[in-house]
Amino acid sequence: MLLDVRDLHVEFRTRDGVAKAVNGVSYGVDAGETLAVLGESGSGKSVTAQAVMGILDTPPGRITGGEVLFRGRDLLTLKEEERRRVRGAEMAMIFQDALSSLNPALTVGDQLGEMFVVHRGMSKKDARARAVELMDRVRIPGAKERVRQYPHQFSGGMRQRVMIAMALALEPALIIADEPTTALDVTVQAQVMELLAELRRETDMGLILITHDLGVVADVADRIAVMYAGRIVESAPVHDIYKAPAHPYTRGLLESVPRLDHKGRELYAIRGLPPSLLHIPPGCAFHPRCPMARDVCRTDVPPLYDVSEQRGSACHFWRECLDG
Ligand code: SF4
Ligand code: MG
Repeated sequence: MLLDVRDLHVEFRTRDGVAKAVNGVSYGVDAGETLAVLGESGSGKSVTAQAVMGILDTPPGRITGGEVLFRGRDLLTLKEEERRRVRGAEMAMIFQDALSSLNPALTVGDQLGEMFVVHRGMSKKDARARAVELMDRVRIPGAKERVRQYPHQFSGGMRQRVMIAMALALEPALIIADEPTTALDVTVQAQVMELLAELRRETDMGLILITHDLGVVADVADRIAVMYAGRIVESAPVHDIYKAPAHPYTRGLLESVPRLDHKGRELYAIRGLPPSLLHIPPGCAFHPRCPMARDVCRTDVPPLYDVSEQRGSACHFWRECLDG
């Protein structure tokens, strides 16, 4: 396994108390595999990714337990210098907001080229040539000319392609993309997702796609891990989830995705709001919103039950849920 996160715990100290952002998350991704991590905002999906990337080691966020095994080594035990090397060369992250992640004062070519100058010791001229190659690779038309332009001269979708090019530059083994298409309109979202899927096929990298939108990952993910209130509530191959969810929260997410074949049918929305991480409900954290909740749900935390060898659900009544 390329990345194997085991029983990760992350807390945030706030004025109002300790927020348990990640409560025992385990997930993994193999080389050549795409894992989608799905959940509403505040579910802990981004925080987990930041802990994996090692960009969370400063207060108020604190990793309080677990392991992050990357190619067999626990990243949480590495010295910061070693960690930085892994982060630069072996894993890369793509964020939602390309405009604030890019330097507005540098041309796109200089920013891409800098990766090669700093990490590979290339000359500026060679680095520029590599920048053009990268822009071609992420299908930015007219790369030779556009390499001289500034970020604000690119559309949102093209800027996100530049971010993807930066992430690919050093050929990392793992890319984590956190809501990479959320700021884009729907057609451009699909194009950027398709690009990520193509690049994943061309290389042997592992890809973690973090999203709140089940609709955008259906065609690109191999597995899905659904998070709620800092835990994984369902983890399964993508086809299993689409066939029949084994957790009422997954079902809610699935039924809120607009589908062509359900035109005219009213969209299901999950009632209520996700809980505050300062006050996670006892028992199953989803019980205040769950249409299937019973007494035991208010008192007993459901473990991640084995639904099959490939699949887990943290619902006491997963069988009923599967049966619809
Ligand atoms: Fe709903 Fe109970 Fe299952 Fe939680 S354990 S998802 S409250 S049925
Ligand atoms: Mg987020």
